[in-house]
Amino acid sequence: MGWNEKRRKMVDYLVKLGYLSSPEIIKAFERVPRHEFVPKEYRKMAYDDTPLPIGLGQTISAPSMIATMLEELQARRGDKILEIGTGSGYNAALLSEITGEGGMVYTIERIEELAIEAERRLRKLGYENVEVVIGDGTKGYEKCSPYDRIIVTAASPRIPKPLMEQLAEKGRMVIPVGSLEYQILNIVDKFKGEIRVYEKGACVFVPLIGEHGWKEAQLV
Ligand code: SAM
Repeated sequence: MGWNEKRRKMVDYLVKLGYLSSPEIIKAFERVPRHEFVPKEYRKMAYDDTPLPIGLGQTISAPSMIATMLEELQARRGDKILEIGTGSGYNAALLSEITGEGGMVYTIERIEELAIEAERRLRKLGYENVEVVIGDGTKGYEKCSPYDRIIVTAASPRIPKPLMEQLAEKGRMVIPVGSLEYQILNIVDKFKGEIRVYEKGACVFVPLIGEHGWKEAQLV
């Protein structure tokens, strides 16, 4: 079976199980070649519904987890989006498809090697409306704030204050919050300057390490 057929099957599975329902998110999953974001040795499993290692102790999340987060994020065409945790760059590519040419995706990664590799991949695949930033994403990216949508793809002990501040009015953030072992997906809305938080299901992510996340010393 070729990559396109495998990808089609993955999307059908995600729709059938109810993880995907919005036409523009389905289209993004159909378009982004996930196998290009996975290390060679795991490529055969690129369209399985499982997280995979991407090196340096980090992972690309399972397609069903990404689908759940993107459905909750409710990003629209033309949105300015901030992602914390670039990893492989796969989610940034999906966000780029969703927001389209009129929108912009800023994605921050703390591990330089991963950021460089993700940027190379995104350029090669023609994703022009994505800027990869190396740094501590718990501080956000004030320079280009406020953001219509913020998505954090690593586990935080709390919602980082700078991210709440950099969220636009009527903006939404999706972030896994909890312990190092497991987290609850938090949906954070800003309306008339007030923050409202809703809790979605449980999830498991690698830690968000930084000034407003986990400290390296807390990980051992
Ligand atoms: N979204 C990614 C993808 O599509 O492949 C997967 C992200 S992976 C589950 C989490 C990433 O968050 C890791 O690459 C990790 O290095 C990064 N990370 C952890 N703490 C961070 C921080 N403070 N700022 C930026 N990136 C961080």
